Amino acid sequence: MSILVINAGSSSIKYSVYETKTLRMINHGLIEEIRNHHEGFEVMRGHLETHDIDITQIDAIGHRVVHGGERFHEPARIDDDLIHEIRSLIPLAPLHNPANIEGIQAARAIAPNVPNFAIFDTAFHQSMPPYSYRYPLPHDWYESYHVRRYGFHGTSHHYVSTQAALILQKPLEELNLITFHIGNGVSACAIENGRSIDTSMGMTPLEGLMMGSRCGSIDPSIIGYLMRETKMSIDEIDTILNKKSGLLAIAGTNDIRSVIDAKNRGNQNAALAIDMFVYRLKKQLGEYMAILRGVDAVVFTGGIGEHSPLIHEMVCEGLEHLGISLDKEKNRACETQIHDLNTNIALLVIPTDEELQIALYVQKLLLS
Ligand code: AMP
Repeated sequence: MSILVINAGSSSIKYSVYETKTLRMINHGLIEEIRNHHEGFEVMRGHLETHDIDITQIDAIGHRVVHGGERFHEPARIDDDLIHEIRSLIPLAPLHNPANIEGIQAARAIAPNVPNFAIFDTAFHQSMPPYSYRYPLPHDWYESYHVRRYGFHGTSHHYVSTQAALILQKPLEELNLITFHIGNGVSACAIENGRSIDTSMGMTPLEGLMMGSRCGSIDPSIIGYLMRETKMSIDEIDTILNKKSGLLAIAGTNDIRSVIDAKNRGNQNAALAIDMFVYRLKKQLGEYMAILRGVDAVVFTGGIGEHSPLIHEMVCEGLEHLGISLDKEKNRACETQIHDLNTNIALLVIPTDEELQIALYVQKLLLS
């Protein structure tokens, strides 16, 4: 029997199928340019049938849902009320939650007897204390409009922290970790005794570190200033901050490989982009070292975090006084443990696997 994991975007459906007991992946695929999710699920059903997987006979379906607001601290079984609650969170995630709901509805229509579970990107960060998640803004903005920090990439931060615990051979509940998810989206998480106590993304995935095409944290007054000076609309500015900023704005591309190549050819904008990118990661590392009482490991994951020794080296450079010391040879050899063995803080490179983490959550719920 098997578990189907669904990541439904606005025009695509990414899916993976795992054996329920062993969580061995038995199939995966991506269906793009769908007109609607019902049609997309029909295409997926056809693909799965050619591999002898009958979607109506599987154990469960786990859906990635981007925003769970304050209500969801952990994965939840989907029923009509839960869909209603996810819908009520659309104003907080207008680009993602509608597609996630459509995916859920298409799954329920095509396999009415199979239980569905929602796994929220925000849930892992619900353990943040109020002084971490509140903004210094009027109470009413929080109470009436839910303006607070939620954090994202929670499934990824949780997965790599669990893997770090296996590598370090200690229970996760006894570990303090700093996890960096560095891909097109970038976020960091401070994990105390296995629980998220802070993360760099905020009310939306725009806050925090410099990203592929998102600016990360900037002075909020820039927005009003530019609206007054350029007469751009708030939507135009919003698009620039989310889609035309970050590495893309400074280096002309959001692909770190191209940025590094350009830097090596002497391109000054590419060099500046990398310096800005790394500077912010390094500052974040320092912040989290200050709030955690001792750190067992720093973990790198995501497309850049998993594959770019240069970024590891630049982030860790000059931090020996904080107990961070990278072994350059191990790093360049792309080993998992890239720290100098004489130091107490492990530096780990761990491939993330959000789909497998979703399958793990579903497996646990099926057994409970
Ligand atoms: P993600 O959003 O996690 O898929 O990560 C995308 C980022 O990872 C892009 O900036 C890619 O340039 C980078 N990336 C992916 N594969 C590699 C690789 N083999 N070496 C260096 N960077 C990579």
